[in-house]
Amino acid sequence: MLIVGAGFAGLYMLHRARSLGLRARVLEAGDGVGGTWYWNRYPGARCDVESLQYSYQFSPELQQEWRWSEKYATQAEILRYIEHVADRFDLRRDIHFGQRVSSALFDEASACWNVATTQGERLSTRYLVLAVGCLSSANQPEIARFKEFQGKTYHTGHWPQTPVDFSGQRVAVIGTGSSGIQCIPIIAAQASQLTVFQRTPNYAVPAWNAPLDDEADCQVKADYAALRARARQRPTGYVFPFDERSALSVTDEQRDAQYEKFWRLGGLKFLGAFGDLLLNPQANETAARFVQQKIRARIQDPALADKLVPRGVIGSKRLCVESNYYETFNRPNVSLVDIRQQPLERFTANGLVAGGRELVFDAVVFATGFDAVIGSLLRIDLRGRAGRRLSDHWLEQPSSYLGLAVAGFPNLFMINGPGSPSVLSNMVQSIEQHVDLICGCLAHMQNNGLAVCEAETAAADAWTAHCREVVARSMRATEDSWYVGANIPGRPRVFMPYAGGVPAYLRKCDEVVAAGYAGFMFHEARSE
Ligand code: FAD
Ligand code: NAP
Repeated sequence: MLIVGAGFAGLYMLHRARSLGLRARVLEAGDGVGGTWYWNRYPGARCDVESLQYSYQFSPELQQEWRWSEKYATQAEILRYIEHVADRFDLRRDIHFGQRVSSALFDEASACWNVATTQGERLSTRYLVLAVGCLSSANQPEIARFKEFQGKTYHTGHWPQTPVDFSGQRVAVIGTGSSGIQCIPIIAAQASQLTVFQRTPNYAVPAWNAPLDDEADCQVKADYAALRARARQRPTGYVFPFDERSALSVTDEQRDAQYEKFWRLGGLKFLGAFGDLLLNPQANETAARFVQQKIRARIQDPALADKLVPRGVIGSKRLCVESNYYETFNRPNVSLVDIRQQPLERFTANGLVAGGRELVFDAVVFATGFDAVIGSLLRIDLRGRAGRRLSDHWLEQPSSYLGLAVAGFPNLFMINGPGSPSVLSNMVQSIEQHVDLICGCLAHMQNNGLAVCEAETAAADAWTAHCREVVARSMRATEDSWYVGANIPGRPRVFMPYAGGVPAYLRKCDEVVAAGYAGFMFHEARSE
């Protein structure tokens, strides 16, 4: 088996592939393990799903022995954890670092994938697992005359290995999504001047991050399995308080008290305040108004607040989780440029021109996100049966069976591919579920003398149609976001993750397995 990527997904896949007795190798573009947590070293990077849940569950010993220091661990701590996992399970010996897979071509005669890397490595494999990540291909917008700029440029998703010191510098940050919102307060505290270029204000709620106390740690570890089981019953695969009532079923006072309570819980939990926030526009509006008013109260200058307060649906884009973000704009060394009013025109040798005015910078940080979910898959020249390219197959929409397999691409598995809960869920939990499902399928093949597994076209079409139908019932796809590929010019507007929630997805997977991997067709090696 060849596995592409050495993040949470690739590492667990390698561990499980060994347990099936397969010879497995990982090819990883970076020089270390960690994936997201290897690349995103920008100041302030941390998780927004609590670490006690944003971690592996496959090894009870690992769960018990690892001690997170904060509720939401920093990038550095998560990377240490993943490195520990790589060492503890002796994974590094099968990983080739510094190898970017450029093509993978299915050879029908041998039923093998011929894989090549940019660095010149050539490998042939029976099974190809793409653990390339949903948020791993940086979106670097084209701004005219980029090359003229004499200062430094950075992308949050491709941060240098050594920390960057912005002390005394004039810094620009472009982008105010989760990454921008995390790094802006910290860069502001270092830089002599910080200018934030905002295209759309995002909804952000406080993290209320804190050290993880022994009591909370012990409470979870006393019955970790129960927490994980409860997580699988939650739409997000993440346990937090959730009230199923409608936001419209209570009085105004009760509603505000409920929002206040959930706002105090911090982070993504806010959306658990009522059961219909992402289903009913009127309910959503009440939550949006509450957060808007909370944000406004934190910004001293009312004109600036007008620019920073988000509008429209809350939760359609991923909710951002912040620490001290809005207060940062009260600092004398921080200013905001609304690029809808003052468009970013071009770079100069000294900085950027926006709205006809040149602004001088020593460094420009792109916090402009990712070519999400399918970007890293499409950057590989993938060709299945009859040489059909994945990029052609997905021209109109990224169809898949369960977000796991693509019709016409035999023995190829995606982890967290389009059409699975992936980015709408606690991703480590979804990764483990996908890897376990793949391994179950491979064990089924081993036990039955089967060599080739392939999604049926009808099953993939039906699943893809189901994904569309499910999201049409929610408010998830109402805004332009990376969930629908709106941030990448030329991408079809299709909501990429499965919006039906983790429990419904797990039920479907269980049914597929119980019916002998229904929707997949299998062949013996000689029939190829
Ligand atoms: P990745 O970690 O992205 O790893 C994929 C690896 O594949 C990378 O190392 C990449 O270099 C490699 N790769 C890609 N293409 C190739 C190629 N062609 N050849 C060779 N190697 C290749 N999710 C949550 O659930 N909770 C959170 O709190 C959370 N916080 C996040 C914070 C940030 C800053 C970001 C960017 C994402 C966050 N996510 C979070 C999502 C996160 O991406 C996943 O949780 C998880 O880390 C993904 O693991 P992965 O192994 O699937 O992919
Ligand atoms: P993002 O959410 O896509 O935000 C990118 C930002 O850049 C947006 O403000 C966007 O504006 C702006 N932008 C994009 N292209 C631009 C252009 N051409 N000109 C000007 N501005 C442009 O990306 P991200 O912040 O890196 O986050 C991506 C995802 O990663 C998150 O949603 C989350 O899932 C994960 N993440 C999680 C955390 C965490 O808290 N744990 C932290 C970072 C990332 P528009 O909104 O107008 O498009």
